[in-house]
Amino acid sequence: MKREWNVVIIGGGPAGLASALTLARNGVKKILVLESQPSIGSSLKGQSIHYKKEILSKIFHSGLPTSSFISKIDTYGRNYYSPSGKNTFHLEDETQRIWIDFRIFLTELAKLVIDANVSVRINSQVINVVSLRDGKQEIVVQNLIENTQTKFITNLVIGAEGCRSITAQVKKLPSPHPICPIIRGHHFGEYEENNMEFILFSDEDEKVAGTCFIFPHGKKTAEFGVIFYPKVSIDPLPSVWKIWSKVLTSPVVRDKINSEQFYELGLAEIPMGGPVSPIYSHNSFIIGEAAGQVTPTGGSGILTSLEMGYLLGENLGNLVDWTNEGFLQIEREILQSATHQKLTTMAQLALPFRKQVFEEYRTWERIDQEWKGITEILKLAFGSKS
Ligand SMILES: Cc1cc2nc3c(=O)[nH]c(=O)nc-3n(C[C@H](O)[C@H](O)[C@H](O)COP(=O)(O)OP(=O)(O)OC[C@H]3O[C@@H](n4cnc5c(N)ncnc54)[C@H](O)[C@@H]3O)c2cc1C
Repeated sequence: MKREWNVVIIGGGPAGLASALTLARNGVKKILVLESQPSIGSSLKGQSIHYKKEILSKIFHSGLPTSSFISKIDTYGRNYYSPSGKNTFHLEDETQRIWIDFRIFLTELAKLVIDANVSVRINSQVINVVSLRDGKQEIVVQNLIENTQTKFITNLVIGAEGCRSITAQVKKLPSPHPICPIIRGHHFGEYEENNMEFILFSDEDEKVAGTCFIFPHGKKTAEFGVIFYPKVSIDPLPSVWKIWSKVLTSPVVRDKINSEQFYELGLAEIPMGGPVSPIYSHNSFIIGEAAGQVTPTGGSGILTSLEMGYLLGENLGNLVDWTNEGFLQIEREILQSATHQKLTTMAQLALPFRKQVFEEYRTWERIDQEWKGITEILKLAFGSKS
């Protein structure tokens, strides 16, 4: 394996693979993707719901195998419930949604990346990134199977390693904060609703607040998850599971799901901050979830990561002179892009919503009493009418 590369991309998720593919399509040679997992997509996260499909045609072009991972395209709304079930609120969503199988999707994307002559290494965890005197970067990689270390030299690093970004740490770039835990159960049988369902919950004793959600996938199967909000429940695991069992006793949750049908339950962490700025330092960019460029709820994370990876790849691929000045100009363009601006605005609107609902309206009773105020914030946050 070569030691010197033009670009090393850390992370084989949607952001890393989209930037690798777009760079290669724009004629950039000697690109290496490093992924710590034993295969592309193995760290992820079941089926997903997204809000637009234009970006897919940019990545997969026409005629390529999108039908293998898209199971349904549809419109749908959002239902919100107070935990007692006394109050509900419906938001109409006029956007088309795409249900995809995420593992197949990432595998197909990885095939395109490899066909474009990008090198991909799995089981390769980046443990350090060091700036050298000539502006080049040294990447220190631990092989997790052989337990050996390798060093690569590169002109540019793209940190696409998700919410625990090592590039952001070593380059002292901001990373999205705070991180909050999420428990997710996949596929609990038939689900007839075509709406995403959100059940707000809160519990004074446990100092816990959050949202339960149900994402139907084409009315056949669905996912059930619980997001625990920051400052409230970033507790050790046993406590999270204790809260999970409490959530399942909410009348609305009991009414809507059959908890015995879960075939997979997992705990993960997602960033709850908004997009960060800056995203460039010392011949390194951060991108995707590493840069907070996703909204963690609402199913837009994967496509947004793709879109930001594509944007970086296009900009870098068309940059003639790979100097610090050129990289800074690209950073400015990405931060001003419509997608980045939109995500920043959404994060800013969503934060007060979370704060009010989950810090002030502490108990189930108060959520019921203050429902009108809560729905006003929801309307504002999602820019929709009821
Ligand atoms: C439980 C859960 C459910 C989700 N559901 C949805 C959904 O339904 N719809 C949706 O759109 N979004 C969803 N998201 C969000 C979505 O998965 C992310 O926004 C998206 O995957 C981010 O893409 P990314 O490429 O930036 O990072 P990631 O997908 O996190 O990819 C980063 C990759 O980098 C690798 N890596 C990390 N550190 C290193 C290192 N040091 N060295 C080498 N490799 C490294 C990781 O193994 C990983 O493969 C969900 C997230 C979670 C946690």
